[in-house]
Formats: sequence, structure tokens, C-alpha cells
Amino acid sequence: MRIDILTLFPDSIDAVLNVSILGRAQARGHITIRTHQIRDFTTNKQMQVDDYPYGGGRGAVMQADPLYRCWQHVVDEAGPGHTIYMSPCGRTFDQQVAKQLYRDYDHFILVCGHYEGIDQRFIDECVDEELSIGDFVLTGGEIPAMAVADALCRMVPGVLAEECCFMDESHWDGLLEHPQYSRPEEWHGRKVPEVLLSGHHGNVAKWRKKESYIRTMLRRPDLFEKFDEKKLTTKADRRLLAEAKAEYQERLAALQAESATETAAEEKE
Ligand code: SAM
Repeated sequence: MRIDILTLFPDSIDAVLNVSILGRAQARGHITIRTHQIRDFTTNKQMQVDDYPYGGGRGAVMQADPLYRCWQHVVDEAGPGHTIYMSPCGRTFDQQVAKQLYRDYDHFILVCGHYEGIDQRFIDECVDEELSIGDFVLTGGEIPAMAVADALCRMVPGVLAEECCFMDESHWDGLLEHPQYSRPEEWHGRKVPEVLLSGHHGNVAKWRKKESYIRTMLRRPDLFEKFDEKKLTTKADRRLLAEAKAEYQERLAALQAESATETAAEEKE
């Protein structure tokens, strides 16, 4: 997979994506990530990349031409790529979108905006789709581009130790992951759940699956609603889900009772 990122701040992206797991994956040739300074593609002395917005108003808009030249340079160098403008107006990025993009393309060109955004004509001419990382506004597209690049790259074989490293995680199959624990067995009076110390792989796997169901039901009922129970083909799997649902009801009732007690105490004060 190759990812080219068009940005006014390549150093900030290189500093994050060229280290740790993605840095090693690049060194081993599993992925290629290149950043491109849009400013290098200006034709004016001041290397200006932005100008006032037509129609008035505050701020500046990134001009189409430097972006286009930068984009064309990447296409000439690396061939055409699925071009994504990072934008709060785009479709919301999540694991399912990441999977779909990973399946459909192996070369991405990510465009980072700044200021008030970029000239619509560049979007109309070169951009295949706009992606948002959530319903909030950041100062630039660098953090969103890094998030998208990271999510895509970790699915490439060889980037993580094994496929299960990314398939066993939150959102892969529409559920949240179970809680994780490491040494010591007791910390600040809090103990690791007994089953995780038992060495019984079957029971550990069951506990993890059940906790994953319960956590999703409690924290993200919207996700759980979409979970397709028909996927559970064995009796044992269906029984485990039924147990999780019963335990969820108990934990929910306990949480509600706790919150009612807290509210009553606050009202008394
Ligand atoms: N004026 C734009 C608007 O209201 O939609 C916001 C521009 S924002 C200050 C500057 C740049 O940050 C955008 O061009 C985009 O590249 C990036 N950006 C900000 N929030 C984002 C988000 N939630 N997802 C993806 N990119 C975002």
C-alpha cells in the first residue's frame, strides 16, 4: 500500500508516521508513506498558498493551483491514487469505511486542508471522496490524515505481528473489545479477574467474548443494535450471548442504583 499526503506541515506527519510500528513497516517495505509540501508547488515569490475568500468573510482559503500541481506531481511520480480530502463535511470515517477502502484501493492520496478549507474547484476536479474523522472541527487535516493512514496501514499484512492483532480489536466485528489487564495481579487494591489467571484458554476466551458483548451493550447500544445475532451459528455461542444479556441487565440495574444514590446525596447537600 502507498499513501501520499499533501500538506503544509509534512514534518508534523513524518514525526508521527515514521516511528514505531509504521516506521518499522516502512523500513521493511510493507507500506510506503510520503508527505508532500504543497508550498513547494507555488509559482509566486512569496510561496503563498492561500488567499481571501470570494464573497468576503474572515480567514483564508487554500488556492486550487498549488494543490493541483502538488497532486499532479504525485500522480506523475506514483500513478493515480484514490484521492481523499480530509474534511469535516465528508462521510464519517470508521472501521467499516477503513475495511472498504483497504479492500478497494492500494494507493491513496490524502489532502490536508488548513485555514477555512480549500477551493471547491480542486475538490471537483481531483477529489474522489471527502472523509471526516468526526463531527468537530480541527485546525488542519494533518491529524485526520494520520488517523486514516494509520487505520489503513495496520491492516496491511506484515505491519502487525499477526492478522488477529487487528481483527481481535474493537469495531472489527461491530463490537467493543473486552477490558485488558497486565502485571501485577493486584494494583491499588484492584485485582485482575480470576479467570485470566486460570490458564484455562477456553474460559478466558468465553470471558473475553462475554465482556465484549456487555461493554458494547452498556457503552454503545447503537452498535449493539446493529450486531447481527444470526452470525452466531453454534448453540454455545448463542448461550454465551444470552448469559451476557442477563449479566448486562444486572450491571445496568446496579449502575442505575448507584447513580440514583449519588443524585439523592447531591440533592441533600
Ligand atoms: N471551514 C471548514 C468548515 O467549516 O467545514 C473547516 C475548515 S478546518 C478549520 C481546516 C481543515 O481542517 C479542513 O480543510 C480539513 O482538512 C481539516 N479538518 C478539520 N476538521 C476535520 C474533521 N473533523 N475531519 C477531517 N478533516 C478535518
